Amino acid sequence: MIVMKFGGTSVGSAEMISRVVKIVKKNAIKKPVVVVSAMGGVTDMLIKAAKEKASGTAQKNAVEKIIGIHEEAIDKLGIGQSIIEDEANGLRSAIDIIKRGDEVNARILDDIMSFGERMSARIVAACMQKEGIDAKAYDAYDIGMLTDSHFGEANVLPKAYGDIGKRIEGEKKMCVITGFIGRDLRGSITTLGRGGSDYTASIIGAAIRALEIQIWTDVDGIMTADPKVVDGARSIREVSYDEASELAMLGAKVLHPKTILPAMEKEIPVRILNTFNPKHAGTMVIKKARRRSRVASITCKKHIDVIDISSASMTDIRGLMRKIFDAFDRQGISVDVISTSEANISVTTDNICNMAALGREIGEEASVHIRKNMARVSIVGKGLANMPNILGTIFSSLDSIPIGMISSSVSGINQSLVVNIDDADRAVKMLHLAFFGS
Ligand code: ADP
Ligand code: ASP
Ligand code: MG
Repeated sequence: MIVMKFGGTSVGSAEMISRVVKIVKKNAIKKPVVVVSAMGGVTDMLIKAAKEKASGTAQKNAVEKIIGIHEEAIDKLGIGQSIIEDEANGLRSAIDIIKRGDEVNARILDDIMSFGERMSARIVAACMQKEGIDAKAYDAYDIGMLTDSHFGEANVLPKAYGDIGKRIEGEKKMCVITGFIGRDLRGSITTLGRGGSDYTASIIGAAIRALEIQIWTDVDGIMTADPKVVDGARSIREVSYDEASELAMLGAKVLHPKTILPAMEKEIPVRILNTFNPKHAGTMVIKKARRRSRVASITCKKHIDVIDISSASMTDIRGLMRKIFDAFDRQGISVDVISTSEANISVTTDNICNMAALGREIGEEASVHIRKNMARVSIVGKGLANMPNILGTIFSSLDSIPIGMISSSVSGINQSLVVNIDDADRAVKMLHLAFFGS
């Protein structure tokens, strides 16, 4: 068996859905389990509709527009409108529950977001049936996707793997499963974090011990940089699990950060492929990648905060470090990149940081300063650790861009630097030129 996950652009229109069905049909012999995202843009629209404060009418219009997008695709595909009737009505009632003027809470927002995947899975399955495939749509929670109650960013519980494995193995039809969503122990719908359908695919792949987990997207695999930023970005044939995981965590949107772990634990290859260009070999993510270039890719994460803590009295540095990290923990700040010197420690974080509270916790012994809205640019690759003069290459290629902080990971697999957000794309382009020659 293999898992084939199709992202939002891949199921973004009737034409694309027909294309997806053709690709799945070609792979029928490998017994695919299909995972789908919501149609491109729909999750954003659902969030916007849920948060719409203006009036009940504006909210209702937004919902009808979302349903209309699906109905249009259904019309063009020539499948019955009734396919999504229950979901469309479910979405209408879910929106009605939000009282005018109220902040929508995370549990209700997850419920509303779930309708994107629930509608797309039904449309894709119906289109497959029309093309002669014996397919059935499933909401992931109905086949065992059990999570904790961390709405918006839920974690899958260990029990899910066994349950999902058993359910899929006992199913004779081709399963078309919703990405992104699950259910907690109380029965509330949860979501796995934005872009989380990749993670769903990987969980299902591990649960059924798939031969391969395929992530079908809109580019030729993992590339040497985001092709939307660097024109000369090239597709990479092979990337190791740890490189792919690091890239995803450091901002490469092509994979959700949690995707790699379940696959890696079972040593299942993850292949990234292009729905627009299915003949391209894409990228294979495996344990040991064979590749000539030491650097795999350059990636960037925008809108991060940098927290600088400095202390003049360095008498009890260990005690101070403990205090700082305890404070981060209590304030829910998760730290990505750390750089230290004798009198200073700087860290980057994606979280919104409560500066005042942090200052109160460590303020007596050290001064805390925060730089908001920065960007972290990272060079990722297994060969970085033994690359001569890597820092020299970075500094000389970025000579016109001020570098706020620089840090290498303990594993030697990434070298990250912080720049002003306005310099971020230029920095990625210049580093790409320095490391890949284009
Ligand atoms: P999907 O909807 O299929 O899940 P995403 O939009 O989540 O697709 O991810 C694919 C996008 O990731 C690409 O269109 C590309 O712009 C972006 N991206 C960022 N970094 C990279 C990279 N290193 N390699 C390939 N794509 C990247
Ligand atoms: N539809 C969800 C999102 O837009 C999940 C996904 O596409 O992977 O975040
Ligand atoms: Mg994605």
